[in-house]
Amino acid sequence: MTMTSNSFDTLNLIPQLRKAIAEEGYETPTPIQTRAIPVVLDGKDLFGIAQTGTGKTAAFALPILQRLSIEGGHERGRRAIKTLICTPTRELAVQIHESFTTYGRHTGIRSTVVYGGVSQLSQTEALKRGVDVLIATPGRLLDLMGQGYIKLDNISIFVLDEADRMLDMGFVHDIRKIIAKLPEKRQSLLFSATMPPDIVSLASAFLTAPVRVEVTPQATPVEVIAQSVYFVEKNDKRHLLAHILKDEAVVSALVFTRTKHGADRVVKDLLRAGITAQAIHGNKSQNARQRALNDFKSGHTRVLIATDIAARGIDIDELSHVINFDIPEVAETYVHRIGRTGRAGLSGIALTFCDADERSYLRDIQKLIGRALPVVEEHPFRSTVPLTNMEPRREERKPERRPERRPERRPEHKPRNEHHQKPQHEPKKEQRPEPKPEPKSEPKRDPKPEPTPASTPERRRDDRRPKPHGPRPKDDRPFGKQKRDGLPRVG
Ligand code: AMP
Repeated sequence: MTMTSNSFDTLNLIPQLRKAIAEEGYETPTPIQTRAIPVVLDGKDLFGIAQTGTGKTAAFALPILQRLSIEGGHERGRRAIKTLICTPTRELAVQIHESFTTYGRHTGIRSTVVYGGVSQLSQTEALKRGVDVLIATPGRLLDLMGQGYIKLDNISIFVLDEADRMLDMGFVHDIRKIIAKLPEKRQSLLFSATMPPDIVSLASAFLTAPVRVEVTPQATPVEVIAQSVYFVEKNDKRHLLAHILKDEAVVSALVFTRTKHGADRVVKDLLRAGITAQAIHGNKSQNARQRALNDFKSGHTRVLIATDIAARGIDIDELSHVINFDIPEVAETYVHRIGRTGRAGLSGIALTFCDADERSYLRDIQKLIGRALPVVEEHPFRSTVPLTNMEPRREERKPERRPERRPERRPEHKPRNEHHQKPQHEPKKEQRPEPKPEPKSEPKRDPKPEPTPASTPERRRDDRRPKPHGPRPKDDRPFGKQKRDGLPRVG
C-alpha cells in the first residue's frame, strides 16, 4: 500500500493493538483506516463505502478490539457475545476471523466464526466456551440462533460487511431478521463496495446518524499498459517464462501465479534455468516477505513471483513487466494485476500466458477490457491446440458464464459482476448438517487459489516521462486508438 505521511501514531490505538500492527509490518494506515477508526472509536455509526483490499477489515477490527478491551468484562466468567460481524461468504468470514485473531492477539479478546456447509459441532463448542466477537454468515447464524446457541442480547457493536453482496445473494430477509433481534442501543457499521438504492434504504433502516466514509481507489487507465497474450501449453509455461526473462530488457518483472505452491514451483524452475527469483506469498513469514520485497524494490532481485493476495501490499513505482503466468479466473483481477505496472507516468508491459484450459478466462478478460489482447505469435513454445474456440466472431464474443454456485433463492435484483474473489456462496437455506466427522482445523487453503483482492488505493505520479521497458510484442497494435471512456481502470 502506498505510504503517506500518516502514521498509526495519530489514531490513539492502545499499545496492545500497536504491537500487533507492527508485527504485521503495517507502517501507515490506509485511507479507510485513517477515516473510519476515529469514528468507530467515538462510538458513532458508520456507513463505509469501500472494497475488499482497501484495508477495511482492520478499519473496523482495530477500533472494535480497542473498545472491547477498554470496556473489559472479557477477563472473567462466561463471556457474552458483544460484537457481531455478518458477512456473506465463508471465505470472508474466515478472513475476518483471522484478522481479529491477528490484531487482537495481545488483547485477550476472544472471537470465533460460524458458517454453513460444515458440521456445526466445533462451532457450537467454541460458542459454549464463550466469545466476545462472533463472525458469521447469515444462514448459519440464524440456524444457531434458532437452536439457542447464540443470543444477541448483549451485542453492543454490529457490523454488516459487504452489504451489497449480501443483497445480491438474496440475504435481505435474513439480514432484516438478524437486525430485528439486536438490542436497540448499539453501534452499527455497514460496509458496501457500491451504493445502490436498496443499500441506501437498508442503511437508513438500521444506522443512526451515520458518518459516511467513502474511499475510491485511484485509477490508472488500463490503456497505458501494453498488453499481449501468449498461447502456450501448461508444461511449457516455465520454459516460456525463462525465455522471456533471459531478455535483459525485462528490467523488473512481477509474475503472478494462482497458488502458493505454483509460486514456489516457478522459483525452482527459474533457478534451474539460471534465473534468480523470489516468491512472496502467505506461507512465508512477514520477515521473509519483506526481505523478498526489499530485494525486488532495490533491484537486487529482478523477478518476484507472487499470488494475488500477497501482491496486495506491493507498491512498486518502477515495475517494467507484469506477467500472468496463470490467468486470473476473475476478469477484474487481471485489471488489478496489470495495474502494478504503468505507474508513475511510465508505460508498462503486461504479458499473459494462456493455456488451452484458460481460454474462457481470457475471453472474460477481453470482454471486460473491451478489446482483444494482441497475440504474440513469434515464440518458441506456441501452443499446438487449435484456437478455433478462442477467436469467435465479434458478435459471438460473449464470454461463457462460468458456472457459479448461486444461493437457492434467486437474488432479488440483477446480480452485479462479482469482483472480490471466486465466491463459494453459502447456500441460502442451509440444510441441517448430517453428522459427519468434525474437521479439526480450518479447511486447507492451498493449493486452492488465494482469494482475489480488490483494488488497493494507490497514488500515481504523472510527472515523469514515460520510458521504454524492453521490446513490445511484435504484433502489438496501437493502443492510442482504443476508446478511453468506459474502460475499466486499475488501481
Ligand atoms: P482488507 O481490505 O481488509 O481485505 O485488507 C487487504 C490487505 O491489506 C490485507 O492483506 C491486510 O493484511 C492488508 N493491510 C490492511 N491494512 C494495512 C496497512 N495499514 N498496511 C499494510 N497492509 C495492510
